[in-house]
Amino acid sequence: MRLNIFRKLTNFFKPQNTFLSSATTDNLPKISVFCPPDFQINKYIPDLVNWSVSCSNKVKETLYGTLDVSKQKNVISLNIYLEHMSGVAFTRSKTVTSLVTGTKYISEIHVSIEHLMKFKSSNQNLVKELTGVIIHEGTHVYQHNGKGTANSGLIEGIADYVRLKTGNPGSNWNRKSVPATWDAGYQSTAFFLEWIENRYKQGMVKLMNEKLKDTKYSDDIFRQMTGKSVNQLFKEYIVTLKK
Ligand SMILES: [Zn+2]
Repeated sequence: MRLNIFRKLTNFFKPQNTFLSSATTDNLPKISVFCPPDFQINKYIPDLVNWSVSCSNKVKETLYGTLDVSKQKNVISLNIYLEHMSGVAFTRSKTVTSLVTGTKYISEIHVSIEHLMKFKSSNQNLVKELTGVIIHEGTHVYQHNGKGTANSGLIEGIADYVRLKTGNPGSNWNRKSVPATWDAGYQSTAFFLEWIENRYKQGMVKLMNEKLKDTKYSDDIFRQMTGKSVNQLFKEYIVTLKK
C-alpha cells in the first residue's frame, strides 16, 4: 500500500472546496477528500487517508465475494466532497471505456455538512454518521445493478446492508420495525437481507451483486439463491418481527 498526503491551502477542482488528502493504494482507486475551509473535518477525523482507505476496503470486502477483478467495478478515482447542500448525500460516476482496458469508473461522493451537523452532539456521533454515509454511498460506487434494471429498493437496501455488516448502522435504525414491503429499501430491506442470509444462505448479497453484473434483474433471483420466492421469504420474516 502506498499513501500520499497533500495539503493545499489553495482551492482545487471545486472553488468552494479545499483539497485535504489523497490516498493511492494497490487495489483501490485514488481517493481524495475535499472540504470547505469553514468545516474542519480534520478536527473530527485527523487521519483522513487511513479513514477513507478503510471505508473503501470495508465496502469492497462486504460487497465482493471474489478476488477476480473482472467481476468488480474498476474504479480508478473516487473524490469525496463534504459540502454545503440540502439533503444527505449523493453519488455520481462517469465511465471511460476502451477495448484494451475495459470500462473504468471515475466516481464522486457528495455529503451534506448540514446533515452531519445534526450529529454534532458528540464528535464520535458525527464521525460514525459520516462513516456510515460514506459506506452507503461507496456501495453505490461499487455495486452492480443488473445493467440498470435492479429494483431500486434492493439497491438502497444493499447499500444499508453494507453499513449494517461493517458495524456502521444509522443511530435511529430499528430492527423490529415492520416494513410494508420487502423492497421498502434502506434499513428495512437491509435487515431483511441479513435475515435471509442468517436463515437460508450466507453470502447471498455477494452472489446477488456478482450476478447483477451481467444479468438483468428479476425477483426470481431470490428463488435462485434460497429456493423460495421473495414474497414467501418476506412473509416468514414478518412473522419473526411480530414475535
Ligand atoms: Zn443510496
